[in-house]
Amino acid sequence: MNRPHPALFVGHGNPMNTLEDNANSRAWREWGQRLPRPRAILAISAHWETEGVAVTAMPCPRTIHDFSGFPPRLAEFSYPAPGDPDLAQRVAELLAPVPTRMDQDWGLDHGVWSILAHLYPGAHIPVVQLGLDGGRDAAGHLALARRLRPLRDEGVLILGSGNIVHNLRRLDWHRREGGFTWAERFNSRIRRQLLEQDQAGLCRLEDDDAYLAVPTPEHYLPLLYVAAVQDAGEYLTLLNDHIEYGAIGMLSAWVGHMKAAA
Ligand code: ZN
Repeated sequence: MNRPHPALFVGHGNPMNTLEDNANSRAWREWGQRLPRPRAILAISAHWETEGVAVTAMPCPRTIHDFSGFPPRLAEFSYPAPGDPDLAQRVAELLAPVPTRMDQDWGLDHGVWSILAHLYPGAHIPVVQLGLDGGRDAAGHLALARRLRPLRDEGVLILGSGNIVHNLRRLDWHRREGGFTWAERFNSRIRRQLLEQDQAGLCRLEDDDAYLAVPTPEHYLPLLYVAAVQDAGEYLTLLNDHIEYGAIGMLSAWVGHMKAAA
C-alpha cells in the first residue's frame, strides 16, 4: 500500500526569499528533493482570506504580486504553474455540505509562489489555493481541514504557508536571527503541541504570548491545515526552527514519510 503523501507547513517570512539564496531558500530546495513528487498541490496561504470557503478553479492561475515596497525584480517574478479545476471540484466534494465557491479571480499569491519557486522551480505541478474563511475560529479551521485528509491518499501535497510567529509591528530589523522572549516562548509552546499532536492546544490563542505572536490569526491558521491531516501517531518533523527579526517565526513542519537528504 502506498504511504499517504506528506503534508507540509512552511514559514514563508520575507517575500525576498523568492529571489535570495539564503538558509530558508536553500532548505526549501532541499525539501523539494526529498518530497515525493505530488500529482497536484492544494495550498493554504496566509495571504488569501475569503468570505466563506473558496478554491481557485481556473486552469491558468495568474501570479499575484500582493505587496509593495520590494524591488521591481520581485514584482516581475512569475510562477506559471497550471491550475487544476478537477482538484477544486474534489475539494468542494470533500468539504460538503459546507458550500465552496469556485473562484475565478484570485491566482497564486506570494505566500505560495515564494515557497514553490524553490520547492518546485519548474512550475509544472498544478496548484489550487484554498482560501482562509474569515468567519471561522481556529477550531473551525481545524474541523474543516480534517475533511481534506483523503487528498493525501490521492497524491496531493497539502501545503500550508504562513508564519507561526508573525508580528510586523514588533519587527527589529537589526536582529536578523533570534526572537523576543514572548516569541520564543510561543514558538516553544507550538513546537511542543505539534510534537504531542495536541490539536486542542494548537487552537488556543488567547494568552499573552499568543496576543503578541499572533496579533491577527491569518499567518498562524495555515499550520492547522497540516496538523489536521496528520494521522494519529504519524511522524512529524520540525524544520527551519528559527525566528527572524525578533517576531517572524520560520518554524515549518512536515507530516509523513521523508526521504533522507541527498
Ligand atoms: Zn506573509
